[in-house]
Amino acid sequence: MLIDAITKAELKTSGEIRVHIENFSFGNAIKSAEKIFTKLGMHQTKARNGVLIYIAALSRKVAVVGDEGIHRELGDEFWKKLVERLISQFKADRKAEALAACIIECGEQLGKFFPRSTDDKDELSNTISY
Ligand code: CA
Ligand code: CA
Repeated sequence: MLIDAITKAELKTSGEIRVHIENFSFGNAIKSAEKIFTKLGMHQTKARNGVLIYIAALSRKVAVVGDEGIHRELGDEFWKKLVERLISQFKADRKAEALAACIIECGEQLGKFFPRSTDDKDELSNTISY
C-alpha cells in the first residue's frame, strides 16, 4: 500500500519520496531523520528534491525532511503542517492510510515545483526502509 502510494505520488513529480520506519528515536526526530536521509544517499538526486518521511513507531515520533532544492521552494511551514496532520491521524489509529495520504500530498506539492518529465528516472527506490 505504501509502496503503491510512493509510486503513484512520483508519477506527478521528479521528486523522490522515501519512507523509513524504525522503533526508536532517541532525541530529536528531525536529527534522526537527517541522519537516515544521508545514510540512504538521498542527497544525491539531480534536483536535490528527495523527501524522507521518518517514523519512529515506538517512540511515537514523526519527521519529514526534504533536500535543499525543496526547502528553497516550499519552506518550513509546509513540512510543519504535513507532520501535524500526520500525527493527528496517527492518533486516530489509521496509520497506513494516514501515511499513504501524506505521501500523495507530498507528490502533489512537489509536482508544483518539480514536475515530472517524460524521461524521469526513479532515482531512489520506492521501497520502505527499516
Ligand atoms: Ca523520479
Ligand atoms: Ca522513487
